[in-house]
Amino acid sequence: MCAAIHAARNGAKVTIIEKNESLGKKLSMTGNGRCNLTNLDMRAECFNPAAAARIKDWLTAFGPADTIEFFKSLGVVTQSEEGYIYPISGQAKTVVMALENEIKRIGIEVKFKEQFKGVENSGDGNSISVVTNLGRYEADVCIIAAGSLSGPKSTLSTGDGYYICKKLGMNVKDTHPALVGFKCGAEEVMPSQGVRCEAGISFVLGNEELAAEEGELQITAEGISGIPVMQASRNVIKLVEEGKPVLAVIDFFPDYDDERFAELKKDMMRLRDDRTLQEFLLGFSNSNVTEMILSRMKLSPGMKMRNISESMAECVLDSYRALKLALVDSFGYQASQVTTGGVSLGDIGDDLSFVADKRIFVIGELLDVDGRCGGYNLQWAFTSGAIAGKAAAMETDM
Ligand SMILES: Cc1cc2nc3c(=O)[nH]c(=O)nc-3n(C[C@H](O)[C@H](O)[C@H](O)COP(=O)(O)OP(=O)(O)OC[C@H]3O[C@@H](n4cnc5c(N)ncnc54)[C@H](O)[C@@H]3O)c2cc1C
Repeated sequence: MCAAIHAARNGAKVTIIEKNESLGKKLSMTGNGRCNLTNLDMRAECFNPAAAARIKDWLTAFGPADTIEFFKSLGVVTQSEEGYIYPISGQAKTVVMALENEIKRIGIEVKFKEQFKGVENSGDGNSISVVTNLGRYEADVCIIAAGSLSGPKSTLSTGDGYYICKKLGMNVKDTHPALVGFKCGAEEVMPSQGVRCEAGISFVLGNEELAAEEGELQITAEGISGIPVMQASRNVIKLVEEGKPVLAVIDFFPDYDDERFAELKKDMMRLRDDRTLQEFLLGFSNSNVTEMILSRMKLSPGMKMRNISESMAECVLDSYRALKLALVDSFGYQASQVTTGGVSLGDIGDDLSFVADKRIFVIGELLDVDGRCGGYNLQWAFTSGAIAGKAAAMETDM
């Protein structure tokens, strides 16, 4: 939509081919329905290493300030929540509607429920034929913005673009779900009620730390998710899918350094009297976390503290510092927010065109670009869309 508007604003006659029954299905679900459009803290390190070298120039050409201006031009007022930019309406649907209104207003034609299948050379050798399940369109250029494999079923994110780009001769890197949670092994004791709490979490394989994050963690009967897990997922997913024994190590006291935690333990030890283990731990942590820890250690909550040795009591407290969970799989593409991998940037020019055929452009998540959670992926969609839209308009026979 962003590419179409930029192309049309620069004089091109544009047609959008959309296989869904409406535009912006995924966009309307973003940011928990609030749409985290971009982030003021936009750095190359917030994207995958393969993209880091080139993303800076693209973001300089169209960055967060340009996104905010673009949406202002559509009548969408934005606000910053500590650098995270949202529409002031607090509704992703108003963002989608504003894009749709502009699309209508500037005369962009939209074909709904039509599936783009590929691009071929047309008879005259100059223009191209855009092939769909319903027919073909002659065009000067084609911008492929078919997205990824991530998102709920209703978004129809079936990764068509990867197949089409491969057929066009582009290098497509292996894909994996990212910004996703993980299932834990069947042998793991998980909290029956589920837990949502602040925690530090690191992911390790043997002695190697793969990633470390802090934030609101969610633990359910099936596994772990929440922002810190999603942020770390890109560095972990491939190894988990290969069946490597990756562990999540959870620290329920992320604000405590070792010295402060030792002090806290000392204070707690003074409470070893005739109270039960459950009473002892009542105010120490979330009760569902405690239930999980005690059942993993096979300790009865009703045990009297005076019957528990000092070293065992310390061991219980220490397990809140480094609870280990074995990961067996991710929750999959449908639960993920982005897909890692995709069309290699080596095949893509600075204007987002295919180096082997300048009439074809590839943008958005279909490319091998994925960012952290927090507005980075939408910014990339807008950045690549705006640059390609303008460049594509230059290539058209206006
Ligand atoms: C639940 C969820 C929440 C998210 N929240 C955020 C957030 O708050 N902030 C953020 O920055 N990112 C967020 N993301 C990621 C972000 O939504 C995506 O990175 C972004 O939408 C990618 O844009 P895109 O245009 O490349 O692809 P998409 O938005 O997926 O758009 C692709 C379009 O192409 C259509 N299409 C696909 N194949 C075909 C075909 N063969 N023929 C015709 N049409 C086709 C699709 O129907 C779709 O309309 C979230 C993702 C999810 C799943």
